[in-house]
Amino acid sequence: MPKKAVLIVIDGLGDLPCPELKGMTPLEAAKKPVIDSLSAEGETGFMNTIAPGVIPGSDTAHLALFGYDPYLFYFGRGIYEALGAGFELEESDVAFRANLATLKDSIIKDRRAGRDDKYMKELYSSVDGMKIEDIKVISKHTSEHRGVVIFRGNGLSNLITDADPHKTGEKPLESKPKDNSLQADKAARLLNEFTRRGIELLSNSEWNQKRVKEGFLPGNVILLRGAGAYRKVDSLEKRFGIRMSCVAGGALYKGVARFVGMKVLNVLGATGDKNTSLKAKLDAAVKAKEESDIVFLHIKAPDSFSHDGKPVEKKQFIEKIDKEVMKEIKENFDVVALTGDHSTPCSMKEHSGDAVPVLVWGKNCRKDKGIFSESNPSPTLFIRGLDVLNILLSKIEKLDKFGE
Ligand code: ZN
Ligand code: ZN
Repeated sequence: MPKKAVLIVIDGLGDLPCPELKGMTPLEAAKKPVIDSLSAEGETGFMNTIAPGVIPGSDTAHLALFGYDPYLFYFGRGIYEALGAGFELEESDVAFRANLATLKDSIIKDRRAGRDDKYMKELYSSVDGMKIEDIKVISKHTSEHRGVVIFRGNGLSNLITDADPHKTGEKPLESKPKDNSLQADKAARLLNEFTRRGIELLSNSEWNQKRVKEGFLPGNVILLRGAGAYRKVDSLEKRFGIRMSCVAGGALYKGVARFVGMKVLNVLGATGDKNTSLKAKLDAAVKAKEESDIVFLHIKAPDSFSHDGKPVEKKQFIEKIDKEVMKEIKENFDVVALTGDHSTPCSMKEHSGDAVPVLVWGKNCRKDKGIFSESNPSPTLFIRGLDVLNILLSKIEKLDKFGE
């Protein structure tokens, strides 16, 4: 029987000592008997997802975890979001994350236009198909106030600054090229024209009149950010001869998975937040085993608790993962790798460059005396994110010898 592995990524797992937890980290404070049994029977240590001290974004971190060096394969956030939202991208597309926001007297009053989805689909559609110079605009609503906007055409670069100022009380920003290329110059010019025309169109939209009449804030500007330029890359199957499946709630993770050629499962109840159905994700992961060598299972909520500065909730969620997911994972897979994509200390409410605990369990594993925690007294793994796939491949006997 071919061996099957699961890679479980708990987003933002690593932390620093928290006063609310008597100086422990959420992972140290959590009661997690199944994870403890895995670390007692397996190998433990630390991972610098990109390199020591480098602060990873979730996008670059996951590229590394899937064996794609982010310094070679990271082409800007927008394309991973677009792929995760189900878009088919073409070579040379530039894709953005979009927010419908409320503008009053040219100033942004609410970056999320109230954070609801009333007529948002129609508002995004109203700029879909717009032509600017020789570029076609594709615009689609995704969730709440959010959407994806794609510039389709030639001669564009993603090396441009955002139109979204990321705060209220300011005007939409003028996008600027980040280098001296004609492509960046053109992309920035188009983005500025898109923002201007969008305001004109949306301010006169019947859907906004309806929104206002029904007591909602108007969504009268589409703020773009995170430009990404799409290039097709060799798939996991082509590069490593393996099939992987992705079980995740958030669009970004599904997008990175699709980018590298994973099969992305649609899991009902996987929401990418604290209300996600861990049971639905577990069932999907176990089922996906049949048609994959490695299943990637992503759990987002702990990172969100960190960004909100909530260590107690983060600890409780780790306990929930242990209770509701890990036992069946252990029973169903030959090899288990458990880690985070980066640290997000609750005290900082942001990602940090601190190494993340990592654990590998399975038949062909050594037993070290380490524990799965930031204060592991006896770690034996000191790895980078790029090493994870190699370790899994070798444990499931899918890696050839290097040399003779
Ligand atoms: Zn992350
Ligand atoms: Zn984060």
